[in-house]
Order: sequence, then structure tokens, then C-alpha cells
Amino acid sequence: MADSVTQCEVAVIGAGPAGLSAAVQLGEMGVDTIVLDEKPAAGGQLFKQIHKFFGSERHMAGMRGFEIGRLLLERCENLDIPVRLNCPVWALYPDKTLGTTWQGQSAAIAAKQVIVATGAAENALSFPGWTLPGVMGAGAAQTLVNYHRVRPGERALVVGAGNVGLIVAYQLLQAGIEVVAIAEAMHTVGGYMVHASKIRRMGVPFAMNHTVVSAEGAGRVERCTIAAIDESFNLREGTEKTFDVDLVCIAVGLSPAVELCAAMGMEMTHVGELGGRIPLHDSVLNTSIDGVYVAGDVSGVEEASSAMEEGRLAAVSALTALGRISRPQSDEMKSEIARSLAQLRRGPFGMTVASRKEDVCRRYEEQCLKIV
Ligand SMILES: Cc1cc2nc3c(=O)[nH]c(=O)nc-3n(C[C@H](O)[C@H](O)[C@H](O)COP(=O)(O)OP(=O)(O)OC[C@H]3O[C@@H](n4cnc5c(N)ncnc54)[C@H](O)[C@@H]3O)c2cc1C
Repeated sequence: MADSVTQCEVAVIGAGPAGLSAAVQLGEMGVDTIVLDEKPAAGGQLFKQIHKFFGSERHMAGMRGFEIGRLLLERCENLDIPVRLNCPVWALYPDKTLGTTWQGQSAAIAAKQVIVATGAAENALSFPGWTLPGVMGAGAAQTLVNYHRVRPGERALVVGAGNVGLIVAYQLLQAGIEVVAIAEAMHTVGGYMVHASKIRRMGVPFAMNHTVVSAEGAGRVERCTIAAIDESFNLREGTEKTFDVDLVCIAVGLSPAVELCAAMGMEMTHVGELGGRIPLHDSVLNTSIDGVYVAGDVSGVEEASSAMEEGRLAAVSALTALGRISRPQSDEMKSEIARSLAQLRRGPFGMTVASRKEDVCRRYEEQCLKIV
């Protein structure tokens, strides 16, 4: 299969906040680690987050997302941890061999332990005209505006009032793009009220209980129609509203990027509140495959600070399995991270996450630890 095989103690798949934090924790303990990411830049979703983070000093509150990404990358560099970019991992085998493409060649990596930190992907929404240029995921618009400094349009409609929809709407406004409305299928805003209030104050109307019906245009989107829906999500006739827009941003949730995990035969489960299909895992991020851990959005969609803590937790599990830390040291580090995660999961959204994560751990015990 491959032209070369690289040996390492731990391979980390994904250079987002979870993967980089895991690598730093491992590097600090002198573990031979390699990080692999299919993108040309490290940082995962952080590279396009220009706003300051909330929370405590430990969670780098007050820093902007891309600065956090840069800092984590610098720490990896200082620890001489190789971060291979433009390096998609396309196979992960139970013996912990990875199939990757690196510098145009197949390159296998044989690891003793693997941390999967592949993040999440935006959900699509199909409607007539959804493939027209100018209709895009909100994350794509965020990348264009915040990273490439390119305005993808002049007048935008945002579909979805969760945190991603709200943050992206605000960032479009900051870039001088008019946001004509935010359409949301539910009757309440899913994202933080602090973001919603800011956008309302800037004069953007929220069309609650509305969905997108169609987008139209010659060669690219020029108009988009939304309409009200009832409790069963049926369109209410006669409620259509059409906006002249050249940008439609779809922000209707994220799904964990579980392809590698599912393809290698990992036990999976479905939890709607965590983004859908996720690998079964325990409280220290072991999966059903010995020596393979998950961390960050792939283990259930949350946010960047908890992804960083989960990265550290998965690293501690790997360090324990490699015999690089003693059991008491491991227990102490795990409880310290668990306390920090509990602190992050205190809000209403976080409490749901915490309780669903507990369900996942219970299912893991039933399915993966059953004694036959
Ligand atoms: C569009 C969008 C906007 C967001 N906005 C905010 C926000 O404003 N504030 C906030 O706190 N959180 C936000 N989040 C959530 C937050 O960014 C994530 O919770 C956090 O980045 C998760 O970290 P992660 O390391 O698990 O995944 P990611 O940051 O997604 O990183 C995963 C990495 O894995 C790589 N990867 C995936 N598959 C492979 C493969 N097969 N081979 C090699 N590499 C692979 C990807 O290229 C990526 O770099 C947003 C998320 C999205 C998707």
C-alpha cells in the first residue's frame, strides 16, 4: 500500500483545538507524537474565529480563537512535535496503522496509540436552488470573511439561529454585509441570547418558525424565499417572503466527523443533542477499539474550550496506557480535567451535554465492557 512507514508512539488525527491540546500534553511528557491534518493550516475551526473567548484564564478567555490556535501550534513547535498538514488520513486499522497521503504519496503510520480528533462537519439543507453559487454553509462564509478576507456577498440571509448562525451573522455585519433576516425553524433561538440580542440591536429581524423554501437566480443566487411552518414542519401557505440576496448561509447544525471511526468498525451510538452518530466512549475517552481514543467534536459537538480539555484527557489516557505516568498521577490528572470539563458544562446547553455524555458512558459500559 504505502511507500514508507513512520513509527510513532501516538498519532493524533486532526490539528484542531482537541488534537493540538492532546499533542502538547503528550509532547510535554516526552512522548513521540505526530499530528496529521488534511487542511493546509492548523487550528481546525479556531483559525476562523476572530472573537474573544469567554470563560476562565485556564480556557484562554479574552483571547481570540485564531490566537489560541496559533499558541497551541507554537507549543507543538517548541516541543518538536511534527504537524503534517495537507495530510488526509483515509484509513485507520484496529492494529493502529494509519493510511495517509503525504506530499503526493501514500504514507503509512504505525502508532502504538491513536487519538481521533477529526471535529465535525456542517449539515446541509436541500431545497430548490440549494446548489446555486452564493448558497453556502455558514462556516464557509466565515472562512471567506475572517480568514481569506473576502466578502462572499453584499446582502445575506442566514438560515439557523444556533450559535454558529448567530456568530456568523454578526461577523458578516462586521464585514459590512447587510443581513436581511435570520430564519429559524424552531420557536426559540438555539444560540446564546447575548449573541442574539446584539444582532437584534443591529436591526436584523428574526423570522421564527420559518424555513427556507427556494433560492433562485441566473448563474448565482439572486433571491431567496422563506415561509412559516407549523408544529409538524409543514409550510403555511400564503406566508412566503422573498428577499433579494446574493448570499444564503446555512447554519443548521453540525455532525461529528466519524467516518474513520465507523469505517474501522468502532461501536457507534446516536445522540441527537451531541450532533447525531458518535463513537461509543467512556468518561476518559476510550473507544471500543483498544488504544484508540476520541476527543473534541467527533465525540459529540460542543465548543472549543471543552475540545481542548478532551484533547488533554485523551492524552492522559494514552500516557497511562503507554506506562508513561503512574496510576495515581493519571487519576489525579484525569480528575483535574474532569472538574474543568464540569465547570465548562454548567450552563443550560452544557448541562444537557453533560447528561448525554453520561448516557454514552453507560451505553459504553453495557456494550463494550460486557462480560460474555
Ligand atoms: C462553522 C463552525 C463555527 C464555529 N464557531 C464557533 C465559535 O464561534 N465559538 C466556539 O467556541 N466554537 C465554535 N465552533 C465549535 C468549535 O470550533 C469546535 O467545537 C472546536 O473547534 C472543536 O475542536 P476539534 O478539535 O474537535 O475539531 P476541529 O476544530 O473541527 O478540528 C478538526 C480537525 O481535524 C481535521 N480532520 C478531519 N478529518 C480528517 C482526516 N480524515 N484526516 C486528517 N485531518 C482531518 C480537520 O481538517 C480539522 O482541522 C464552530 C464550529 C464550526 C464547525
